[in-house]
This record gives sequence, structure tokens and C-alpha cells, in this order.
Amino acid sequence: MKTLDKKIELILEKESIRQRNSAVFIASENYASESVRNYSNSIFTNKYAEGYPGKRYYAGCENADEVENLAISRGKKLFSSKHINVQPHSGSQANMAAYVSLLKPGDKILSLSLDHGGHLSHGHNVNFSGKIYEIHNYYLNRESELLDYDQINDIAEKVKPKLIICGYSAYSRIIDFNKFKSISQKVDSLLMADIAHIAGLVVSGKHPSPVGIADIITSTTHKTLRGPRGGLAIIREDLSSKYDRGVFPAIQGGPLMNTILAKAAAFEEALSDNFIEYSQQIIDNAKVLANLFLDRGLRLVSGGTDNHLMLIDTRSIGINGDEAENKLNEVGIVVNKNAIPFDPMPPKITSGIRIGTPAITSRQISNDDLLKIGDVIVDCLSTSSKNTSVFSKEVQKIMNKLPLP
Ligand SMILES: *Cc1c(COP(=O)(O)O)cnc(C)c1O
Repeated sequence: MKTLDKKIELILEKESIRQRNSAVFIASENYASESVRNYSNSIFTNKYAEGYPGKRYYAGCENADEVENLAISRGKKLFSSKHINVQPHSGSQANMAAYVSLLKPGDKILSLSLDHGGHLSHGHNVNFSGKIYEIHNYYLNRESELLDYDQINDIAEKVKPKLIICGYSAYSRIIDFNKFKSISQKVDSLLMADIAHIAGLVVSGKHPSPVGIADIITSTTHKTLRGPRGGLAIIREDLSSKYDRGVFPAIQGGPLMNTILAKAAAFEEALSDNFIEYSQQIIDNAKVLANLFLDRGLRLVSGGTDNHLMLIDTRSIGINGDEAENKLNEVGIVVNKNAIPFDPMPPKITSGIRIGTPAITSRQISNDDLLKIGDVIVDCLSTSSKNTSVFSKEVQKIMNKLPLP
């Protein structure tokens, strides 16, 4: 590069400092490895490769074919599946391709309501999915704040959906894919498992896998899986060519070959024993924080966590989710406000925050430092003092010594 673009370099530098210094507890974020980042920057960004390996609509795709075939074979090994599509640009695109290929406009979808932990692309009315399909929702149980399979079964029998969706953005417990399967079989519907959040835990054997159970499995590649920003899908064999056409040509043009190269690299990383240890550490760290919060009198939705995230009911500290998010952000702790089940507050305010451990675990935080930050979170949320510099200093001291991947 001859001359640096000064404006861009300045923004990059600021973001690099922000990422190094902040304690990231956003449950959907992670730090990809240096090789994943480099590969996603690679010269494959220059290449058009519409179509699939061996069946492209452009010349010069022989190396692109090798890249995609490598990502496919590693992906199949990682998920123990017979099929995988590595082209979806994102988790939402992977879901859109599922709906477009398997449903007709107006068909019924049954999914968890967004404010109980579902995702926009599962049929929210501001999303394409809510505009094109007839959406019905199920909810968490009011007392246990857990999935209520009897309730889901009853609604499914009443609604007779064409598709049932499980897999969430803010659910801290294990999903029983077999129970969903028996419900979907009873009402003769397709079952989709969106494992965007938990894919890394699934491939490490730390959460049950929906492969071989759900008809369609969609995911992102950048959350617990720690790959480049992107999506993937694993489809029942007899539906797979339909799905592949749902991605291209139905909703996407050329695949992002640079990203697919980085997905291949990330899949290889996720196949290692190190990654299994990493996934276990994510869960251990989440438990450490959950116990600390409970010991200090905070209320957690469903009482705790079995995976990489938890929801704090911030009413137990007398503040709302928006205030909590801002207070923590000021001291370098990054979380997001999040609706809790049956939240009386609007989505821009909410009564909760979501705390996830994938990113902080990638920074290799020690148990002692994690406990210190956990205490800072509670102290900072509880104080009414405006002077929070002791908290920022404590966070800075810890984050400065932790390596960046
Ligand atoms: C994050 C997420 C997605 C969407 O991912 P994008 O890549 O942001 O489009 C889809 N489904 C669930 C359950 C998610 O948590």
C-alpha cells in the first residue's frame, strides 16, 4: 500500500484500542483468530463464483472450487453431517434461504417470540419473515422461564404450522431437539434448528446436536464458532438441493469466497482439541459469573445458565436494562440490554441485560480476574455515585494484560 487512507486508519486504530481495552460480554460476539481474519481479507474477495463447485457461471473458478470444497468437507466433518451449504452471507440469509426454498408466502411458521429470546428473522413483524409468512409464537413458561414443551405441543396442534423453529438468541438453557422433533412429526411440520448462538458448543459436544434430528439447521459462523462473520446451513439430504437453490440463485448472487476461505480455516480450528477445551471454558466461565451474581442477590432469568449466556433481571438492582447497559459501557464493560420474558418495558428500555462469555474466554481471562470483573459489574450497577473511575481502572488493568487473538 502506498499511502494510507488517514481517515480510515484513524477509525481502525480507535476500534483496535476499544477492542483491546473493553471487557466484551456481548453473547453474540467473539474474537476470530489472526488467520481467520487474514483469510477473510484475502484476494478471493476479487473473484466471482456464482453457482456451486463444478457448476459455476464464471470462468476461472478452479481455485474457488477448491476453497469451497475444502470448507464443505471440513464443515461436514465438524458437524458430522452429510450436507452443508457454506454460502449464506449471514445467519439471517441462511434462514431466509430455508423459508424461500421450503415454504410458500403465507405459510405458517411457529417460533419463540422475540421478547422471550427468539430472533428477528424468526418472524418478527419488522423483518421480512414476519411480512411474508403467517407467524405464530410460543412463549417461555411464566414461572420457570423455560421452554414449555407441552404448551408448544398444544399451540402446534392448534396452528398446524408448516415449519417449527427452535434455537434462540437469549436462552440460557439446553434445548431438547428430540422433543421438538416429536412435536413437529405429530403435526406434520418441518423442524428448523437455528444454532447461531450455540454452534461452537454443539460441535464441541457441550450442547446436544440437532444434526440427524432437525430437517434444517442454520447457523452463523462468528458467534461461539469463532469464525468469520457469515452463515451456514445443514439440510436433510432429500431437501438439500432445494435449499442450495434457495441460497443461489433465489436470494444471493456471488458467494463471498474470501469469507468461505476463512470459514474453512475456522472449521479446522474448531476440529481441534483446543477448541473443545475452549468451549468447556466458556461454559465454566458463565457458571462462575452466574453464581457470583446469584450470591450477590441478583435475579437471573430461569435461575442460571447451562450454556454461554445468562440474562440478569436488572429490576433486582432497581434499574432498567438501558441504564445498566450504559453504566457498564462507561467503565469499559460491553453488554447489551435485553428483554426478559414477560418484560413490561419497551424494547428500547427493557428490564434486563444479556451477559455472554465467548469473547472474554477467547481473551483467556483467569478465574481470579473473571471474579474481579463480576464484582465490578455488580458494584457498578448498584452504585448511585457518578464517579465510576475506580471501576474503569480495575477493568483496564485486567484487560491490558490479556492477549488478543
Ligand atoms: C445472531 C442470530 C442470527 C442472525 O445472524 P446475522 O448473521 O446477524 O444475520 C440468526 N438467528 C439467531 C438465533 C441468532 O442469534
